[in-house]
Amino acid sequence: MNITTWNFPTSIRVGIGAIATLPEVCRELGIHRPLVVTDQGLASIAFVGDIVALCNDSGLPAELYAGVRGNPVGANVDDGVRAFKAGDHDGIVAVGGGSALDVAKAVALMGRQSQKLWPMGGDEFDWGHIADVDVVPWIAVPTTAGTGSEVGRSAVIIHEDSHSKRIVFHPALMAPVVISDPQLTCGLPPHITAATGIDAFVHCFEAYCAPEYHPMAEGIALEGMRLVGVALPRAYDDGNDLEARGWMLTAASMGATAFQKGLGGVHAIAHPVGALYDTHHGLANAILLPYVMVANREAIAQRMKLLGRVLDLDDPSFDGVLQWVLQFRERLGIPHTLKEAGVPDDGIEEIGRQAALDPCAPGNPIPFSARQYGAIFASALNGTLAS
Ligand SMILES: [Zn+2]
Repeated sequence: MNITTWNFPTSIRVGIGAIATLPEVCRELGIHRPLVVTDQGLASIAFVGDIVALCNDSGLPAELYAGVRGNPVGANVDDGVRAFKAGDHDGIVAVGGGSALDVAKAVALMGRQSQKLWPMGGDEFDWGHIADVDVVPWIAVPTTAGTGSEVGRSAVIIHEDSHSKRIVFHPALMAPVVISDPQLTCGLPPHITAATGIDAFVHCFEAYCAPEYHPMAEGIALEGMRLVGVALPRAYDDGNDLEARGWMLTAASMGATAFQKGLGGVHAIAHPVGALYDTHHGLANAILLPYVMVANREAIAQRMKLLGRVLDLDDPSFDGVLQWVLQFRERLGIPHTLKEAGVPDDGIEEIGRQAALDPCAPGNPIPFSARQYGAIFASALNGTLAS
C-alpha cells in the first residue's frame, strides 16, 4: 500500500434558497467587491442578474464577467483576470456549470499574479512557476449537477495553440464555501440535465473502478451512483422536482469528491474529443461509458456485483450493470454513438494518441495503449459494442 493523502471537501451550504446566504458568506470571507464569473450562456438568465443585485443591495458592489465559453480556453482566464484587476475586486463568486467554475478557479489563482496562465512559450500549466501564491477567496455556486467542479482543486482549460485540454491544479484552489441551491438548477433543459447528470455518474463509476486504494472514496462513489439512478430520471422528466434536483447536486459533489481516487478511460477519451470537436463533456462521457466498460470487463467484472446490488438490479453482474447503463442512457435521450453527436471519424489515431497521454489514463483499471484507445473511440463512433 503506497502512502497517499486523502482530501475531503469544503464547507457546503445546502438547501432550497441557500443562495440568499451569499452576502453573509462573502462577508465571512472578507469579500467586499465580488466579481461574479459566469458563462456566455448564463449571462442573460434571470438568476445571474439576481445574484449581482443581491450583492449590490447588500452593500457589496459587484460586477459581472460573463466571457466564459463552454470548453473554456486560456484567453477566458486572462480576460477574467483583467476584469478582476480592472474592477479592483477582492473576491470571486463563480456561478455556473463546470466551465464557469473552472475559469473562476483559474482566475482566483492568477488574479494576484503578474504573469499569464500559460508561461511564455510553454504549453503546460505549472504551478511551480507561480511565485508567492495568494489565491483570491472564491465562492462556488453550481448551476448544473454534473462536474462537481465546486469541490475540486483543478480546472480543465484548453491550451489554444495545441488544442488540448490542460489541468490547472493547485492545492490551495479548494473553494472556501460552496452554495448548493437546487433552485438554481431548475432551469436546465432536459438534455443538459441528462448529459451533466450522467457525467456525475461516470465520475463515481470511474472512481469506483480506479485501482488506487481509497475505500472512503469508493463508499461515496457507490452512494453517488445510487442517487443518480433514482434522481436523474425524475429531474429529467420534471425540471422543477426540487428533491431530485437537490439529490443530483449532492451526487455531483460526491462524484468529484470520489474521483480523487482516479478517473479512467471514459474521461481519457472524452477530453480530446471535447478539445478537438467541442463536444459537450457530459454527453461524450455518457456515450462512451458502455464502450469503455466492455473494454475493461475483465478488470471490473468482480466490482460490478456490489454496484449491481446498490443499484437494486435483478441481475447484479457485469452484464446486468451494462444493460442497466444502456437502458438508462436511452431513457434519458442520450445517443448510442459519437457519430450521432456530430463527432467525425477522421481523428481516430489522434484521439487514441491523446487519450493514452491524458492525465486520467493512469486511473483506468487496464493500461490501454494509444492504439487500444483509438479502437475504443472507433467503436463508440460506430456503435459496435463487443461483448
Ligand atoms: Zn467529467
